[in-house]
Amino acid sequence: MNQPLHPTRGLIATHDGHGRPFDLTDLRKWIRLHAVVFHTEKIDVRTVGEGISLLPALLDFARQSKVRLSLRTDGSHDPAVLPALAEAGLLDVFCAMAAYDGDALTRWTAACAAAGLALRVQIGAPLPEHISVEAATKCLAATAMVNITLYDPFAPAAPLRGRVASTALRDMNALARALDARGVEVNLLHAPFCLIAEENRRHVVNSTQFFFDYQHYDQRAYDFAANIHTRGPRRMAKAVENLLSRRMAVHSPFHHSVLPWLLHHPLLLMRLWVVHQLTRHLQFLRGPRPLPESAEGWEAAIEAHRRRHRRNLGPVCAACRFCRICDHASEQFRRRCPDLQIAAVPGDEVISPFHLMRGRTRYYDAVDAARRELPKIQETLAEEARRITLRETPTREITADHYEIEDHYTHHMPGAVRWISFLNVEHCSTPLARLQPPFTMQLTFGGGIAGHIGFSFGRHAKVVCPMVDYSHRLTLHVDEFGRYVLLRDGVIVRPTEFDGARYLPPRIGDNVEPRISIHNIDGFILTQTLLLWEGRRGADGALIAVASDAPKIKYSVVIICTRYTRRLQATLLGLAHQRGFDIRALEVVIGYVPGIDATDDLIESMRRTCP
Ligand code: SF4
Repeated sequence: MNQPLHPTRGLIATHDGHGRPFDLTDLRKWIRLHAVVFHTEKIDVRTVGEGISLLPALLDFARQSKVRLSLRTDGSHDPAVLPALAEAGLLDVFCAMAAYDGDALTRWTAACAAAGLALRVQIGAPLPEHISVEAATKCLAATAMVNITLYDPFAPAAPLRGRVASTALRDMNALARALDARGVEVNLLHAPFCLIAEENRRHVVNSTQFFFDYQHYDQRAYDFAANIHTRGPRRMAKAVENLLSRRMAVHSPFHHSVLPWLLHHPLLLMRLWVVHQLTRHLQFLRGPRPLPESAEGWEAAIEAHRRRHRRNLGPVCAACRFCRICDHASEQFRRRCPDLQIAAVPGDEVISPFHLMRGRTRYYDAVDAARRELPKIQETLAEEARRITLRETPTREITADHYEIEDHYTHHMPGAVRWISFLNVEHCSTPLARLQPPFTMQLTFGGGIAGHIGFSFGRHAKVVCPMVDYSHRLTLHVDEFGRYVLLRDGVIVRPTEFDGARYLPPRIGDNVEPRISIHNIDGFILTQTLLLWEGRRGADGALIAVASDAPKIKYSVVIICTRYTRRLQATLLGLAHQRGFDIRALEVVIGYVPGIDATDDLIESMRRTCP
């Protein structure tokens, strides 16, 4: 419960830094990038000018992608749009102003209260000359959270010279003190610790805190938005598409063609095996590196980081107790406050970025409040998984004959699949089934060893754990909200996170096609029949709806439509009006380019008229 929550907020913008608008279709893809690649659960939409009119369409798309959107405005918009946006599912409002504007803040505070939305605020320091700290505090007291920042990369401002820079620091300190006393969460962004009064240092947020604290942004999503900020709509579209399509092609011609032949030449096979044993753990031959799991591993990594870090520090910061958690006199800080001088703070070195932040007033929105409860939920899910797998009969069994290793030679044995590999990469099976949460899967891995075993739900979603014995029974239980727990031999295990790759999904989505995923196989390993429990259960634990009760899909019609929506409409109506068979046994798969014509509207209307 008291563990720090990592950020799960992303950032997109309707316009770039030069005011050029982004295309609606590209914005939808950008949201998709957050959902699929960055795995963020909520996104701030930085709206500029008329870009706010895109929000209803974006909210609709975000709902389908299971992401919540917040409105990030500079305060210049008319808050009259809020009731409609709240109705459409807006999470909250983030009013990020380059400078304090009391009138606009009063308008937005009242509108948010009327629409039932929380208001987060960011203002640039210093306060305007005619505004007192007391007046600003009174205006900000009704907000959920206030950032006071020295600079904002998305709103470049002129340098603060001489006395003005000192005034900015004085205002930051005074406002933080006053708002904290009123029970409002305050963050002092991008200010070096040494320039902030000691009692306010717990509010200081530099990049170490910014990218590790739930209140701010996921680093990859934020860095991407900052990079795109000055690059224009065409480059944004290309970059988003590029990131979305990464790792689409995974082929292993070596295994596909050579392995069947090699298995019939034992002498060559033995030599290859020896080479494989010697090279299996070499890092440069492997994919994403798992993060260390032992205290020694972490200490070694921290020591290496510390050496690198000290090399880059100047003499002042190297002697400061905050050197590990501070941004130092960064280039952006120097540009904004060229006349401010930093000074080392003596004392014991502070290591944890959250060391000073304890005991602060914090604000949790609906998404973060649910994440705080996760450890308790994991225990509940694990109990449910154990009960289902011990007491219930599986609703389906997917035998070893029903899946293969994708793009790879597959050796089917009686009751098992033998995975043979001499490459230090991930291998996946073909899709096991199409599933709708809730469901529970159980699979036994044995007869060999591998680096990591588990399940893959696509290129960017993998739930795997280390293999620490020659045999494991893995159970993955997913509840109806997509929350999941992984059990290794009946015990909760934290799924592995990989250095430089975000594979761990916060939730499992709808209509998923799980595959078996095995990383770095040591020669060979066996997998057996997958046991599957599907459907919802009542309070007594009994199954109340089993997916297999529904008629099985017998007919699949695949339509690729990039033009001529009318023809697609005629085809769909023709299918919907067929007689003499159970229409629930029919599925239609449509491939189209979202937003290019009226296909979106047609699909939506067909869904409503012929569900
Ligand atoms: S590390 Fe440098 S910039 Fe940061 S508080 Fe210490 S002296 Fe100031």
